[in-house]
Amino acid sequence: MLTNRILIIATALAVVACGQNVTPVIPADKAVEAKVEKVLKGMTLQEKAGQIVQINISMLLGADGELDQAKLDKVIGEYKIGSILNVQGDRAHSREETAAMVRRIQEKSMEAIGIPCLYGLDMIHGASYLTDGTFYPQEINIAATFNREYARQMGRTMAYETRAAQVPWVFSPVMDLGRDPRWPRQWESYGEDPFLQAEMAREETLAIQGDDPNNVDLEHCAVSIKHFMGYGVPVSGKDRTPAIIAENDLREKFFAPFLECFRAGALTAMVNSASINGIPTHANEKVLTQWVKKDLGWDGMYVTDWADIDNLFVRDHVAADKKEAVALGINAGIDMIMDPYDITCCDVLVQCVNEGLIPMSRIDDAVRRILRLKVRLGLFDNPVWEHEYPEFASEQFARESYQAAVESEVLLKNDGILPLKGTEKILVCGPNANTLRAMNGGWSYTWQGSADDFVPQYNTIFEALFDRFPGKVSWVPGVVYDERFYQWEKDIAINVPQAVAAARKADVVICCVGENSYCETPGNTDDINLSANQKELVKAVAATGKPVILVLNEGRPRLIGDIEPLAKAVVDVMLPSNYGGNALAALLAGDENFSGKLPFTYSKHINALHTYDYKVSEHRETMEGSYNYDAVMDVQWPFGHGLSYTTFAYSGLNVAISSFSGLSRESLTFSAEDVLKVSVKVTNTGSRAGKEAVLLYSSDLVASLIPDVKRLRGFEKIALEPGESKVVEFEVPAKALAFVGPDGRWRLEAGDFRLAIGGLGQIVTCTKTKVWDTPNI
Ligand code: BGC
Repeated sequence: MLTNRILIIATALAVVACGQNVTPVIPADKAVEAKVEKVLKGMTLQEKAGQIVQINISMLLGADGELDQAKLDKVIGEYKIGSILNVQGDRAHSREETAAMVRRIQEKSMEAIGIPCLYGLDMIHGASYLTDGTFYPQEINIAATFNREYARQMGRTMAYETRAAQVPWVFSPVMDLGRDPRWPRQWESYGEDPFLQAEMAREETLAIQGDDPNNVDLEHCAVSIKHFMGYGVPVSGKDRTPAIIAENDLREKFFAPFLECFRAGALTAMVNSASINGIPTHANEKVLTQWVKKDLGWDGMYVTDWADIDNLFVRDHVAADKKEAVALGINAGIDMIMDPYDITCCDVLVQCVNEGLIPMSRIDDAVRRILRLKVRLGLFDNPVWEHEYPEFASEQFARESYQAAVESEVLLKNDGILPLKGTEKILVCGPNANTLRAMNGGWSYTWQGSADDFVPQYNTIFEALFDRFPGKVSWVPGVVYDERFYQWEKDIAINVPQAVAAARKADVVICCVGENSYCETPGNTDDINLSANQKELVKAVAATGKPVILVLNEGRPRLIGDIEPLAKAVVDVMLPSNYGGNALAALLAGDENFSGKLPFTYSKHINALHTYDYKVSEHRETMEGSYNYDAVMDVQWPFGHGLSYTTFAYSGLNVAISSFSGLSRESLTFSAEDVLKVSVKVTNTGSRAGKEAVLLYSSDLVASLIPDVKRLRGFEKIALEPGESKVVEFEVPAKALAFVGPDGRWRLEAGDFRLAIGGLGQIVTCTKTKVWDTPNI
């Protein structure tokens, strides 16, 4: 009886908290809520504070790097800390080692608090913090496949292998729009476009969490979608620095992938470390609480990023001290504070409540959200678990990773030199030719990536080519990364003359350039051009007259405008991970066909770093100075560019409008409730089998705010045998063509739109303007 009463109160609270009639994005589960209320009821304020604080594993380790009993007693026994993150010793461990450590923490937590600990890890591209886990290509590569299946596979495997190590929470997927190539985390995301980002992130979220966010089973984890939001476009281009984002852009574009994932049931979100329009995101009540907790009825949990409550006073000066900062963040909507090295944050929380700076109702709400997550993850029933994981590091997972690498490496230019004939003598040079570290990028075995120290069994580019073309391949680096520097930027020319001499003896030179691995602030750069040493190397080997194939292995598009003309072919492998070398060798040999397309704009000029969805007025094409709607930016390669060894022809673009009731009509007029059904025929007109990513764009021809020149609205990847045709169909809800106006409301305005696929276009007309306030859930 008592349980029932508590339940009714809890449900009522949820409705009041939402402040309006919204259907919560995650449906409340009575059993979950009852358990949460029961636990919360018995907790002291000190215990609640402990649940809110998350600390770094290093705080539990002794001088020998192992768990230390006295520290466990203090941190968990005394301070009742409810969540731990990170890897022991700042490096990956095996599944068994990780599991043993987490088990011990769980036992202590259950004995001292009676509430399970929530362990979280930065699994970023597969189980990338386990020495024996499966790594997939980084998200930027998965985006380049334009194939949702790989986002699903990566998410499923990441969750499965992480759970096998007794960890139920991953800080993935990343869905910051990578719209500025200077920003050092572009590669962690699915690129520059909101729709592509949203589609991939949703698939990954669903694959990580499974079908039911209220009951996450022992083969799935909770996600932490990050970094909410607007992190990827700092004015300075540097990590964790302020962004200025128009309010309508923030709501329409930057919010879009998060919105999609909240709707898909994302259980937690990590907050953007930096600030937008002068407001640190950790203190932004409007976006944290209003846009999500209230407007979407989201009952999940926000965790801060690394020490970001401290940043409110130490860095951003919007609070005078820690107490003010804690109150500011928690009152804005933060639920869990990642305070890696400071357990006294718990005392500050208690003090804030005692002094009336944070209402007890807000503390209870935050703790409810944390407990709810622990219940949803089944941690109360199974703080540790016995479960078989027969697929851990399976052949199947490895095959998927290889295949994703094949579909993600992008052929940007080919004057016919590729595929290689197999008879050529090949020189491989450049600092990226023989390194797994650069192929994996950051968040690979260590924070900024150290794959060479952990997995020498996988092939670098040189090793893979050496195996594929026996007796034909030699390696002279010319330039190497200076591994004495933790930071990526240092490279040194060591034996360029030797590389030039070797080039003279070769028939073809494969020059592998780009970046060493990096992550976050150490990846900041003052110059987005490819480094001078590497450009010199390319020029020197090209001066021999031998054909150069440029391989780019980089987390962001480094400018190469001056050396691109020297190359007969260019391939951007980005960060394809452990099977990326094998994939490249197979692609260059023609055993596999290229099908990747750029998920970002590859800029050409330092003062022209643009995205594909620019405003027409950003570019004047005509001599007369009039604006040309079909104008193209002068970029190195546009978003969506990618070649194949075969060719595809598009024909028969057809648009039909279907009303909500499902009835199709021939007319090309529509209103907000309709669905646009677009189809096109794609034919493989070449002589090889190939895959093609079919991209559907829309352009709003007249709008009350200057419209973007075009926007991606659909994509599908298809496979075609030579001569084969397929009809690809898209269904675009008319509401998806809306934009957000200066008043923060979504607007689908009457007028003409152009739908375009593969060079074909069709005008359709919206007959009635519709405006709505909140995301139309
Ligand atoms: C990064 C996050 C990461 C967190 C925990 C931060 O520095 O910005 O992406 O999840 O550390 O390791």
